[in-house]
Amino acid sequence: MTYLDGNASEPLRPAARAALLAALEITGNPASVHAAGRVARATLEAARERLAARFGCDPAGVVLTSGGTESIAFAIHMLAEGRCVLTGATEHDAVRAAHARETLPVDADGVLDLPALDAALAAGGPALVCVMAANNETGVIQPTLAIAELCHRRGALLFCDAVQAAGRVGFDLAASGADAAAVSSHKLGGPQGAGAALLAPRMAERVRPLIAGGGQERGRRGGTPAVATLAGFAAAADADRLSPELLRGAVEAAAVACGAQVNGAGAERLPNTASIWLPGVLAATQVMALDLAGVAVSAGAACSSGKVAASHVLIAMGLRHAATESIRVSLPWNATEADVAAFAAAYQTMATRVSRRAA
Ligand code: PLP
Repeated sequence: MTYLDGNASEPLRPAARAALLAALEITGNPASVHAAGRVARATLEAARERLAARFGCDPAGVVLTSGGTESIAFAIHMLAEGRCVLTGATEHDAVRAAHARETLPVDADGVLDLPALDAALAAGGPALVCVMAANNETGVIQPTLAIAELCHRRGALLFCDAVQAAGRVGFDLAASGADAAAVSSHKLGGPQGAGAALLAPRMAERVRPLIAGGGQERGRRGGTPAVATLAGFAAAADADRLSPELLRGAVEAAAVACGAQVNGAGAERLPNTASIWLPGVLAATQVMALDLAGVAVSAGAACSSGKVAASHVLIAMGLRHAATESIRVSLPWNATEADVAAFAAAYQTMATRVSRRAA
């Protein structure tokens, strides 16, 4: 099988597998004071320090969780207290579902409309703005630092969903200017079921848990942490990131040669992600045809890949037809030229068959 759906879940990196398996041998609970507990605690704190170093924040600002969605829900819950929540129109459903909100428009390439953000902040009261570092469907990268400066000038806070950016181009909380961010293990080659909310020093002492419990994570997230999974996450985060820009270019060229268009092509994008529109052919039909040919891609976000829904991301970019006729090809960290060749052959066969049927 040719796996080109890394934005849904990356294959496990060897370093992550090794760290995960080693930590599975640990018996203790990190909250226990005896020797076994102290071993678990040391493993957990080592993972926290690695993640803090990788993502540009203090270890005290790393809240360990079960994944991207929980990290997003926790950070928004904490930061939104007493604030109105404004979210970019192309945010992931995990952000869109987290809070009652107002939506901010994007341009035709999916980049946030900064004058519209400024006007919304000027018109309203205290706000929390939620804008992702990079989009999961199109790979479009947002100007996070400029957005943070604008938010802070207007007295607003910025939350940044860095789930996709972290494993592809890296993410540094301090450099982003955001007040908090979310990252997820399985999007960067770690095991599923681990993630972290990253808090800037000015936020790290706040205590407003989403899940209250035994006081873990400095009272910010109750529950025994998944020590082994988190150790695997930290090992994956330390691995070198991929930059398969050449491979993405080859994927896009093969599709364009068959009459397709690339969505968001005018913006800076993640080097592994291509959103490809084949006019007149439903995304579900394309995904199924490619799957039958042994190539795994998705129709938009992973969470909705079971349904045939129009992409809210492409609709927000003004691409109404593309919203039901686009597939996402996302190269995982171990993608090869042979994978791209397999995609190109399967895509061409599919496109030829479809156009023959239409003729
Ligand atoms: N945010 C973005 C941009 C994503 O792509 C995803 C997953 O697809 C999530 C959040 C949710 O992350 P997780 O699957 O770890 O809950």
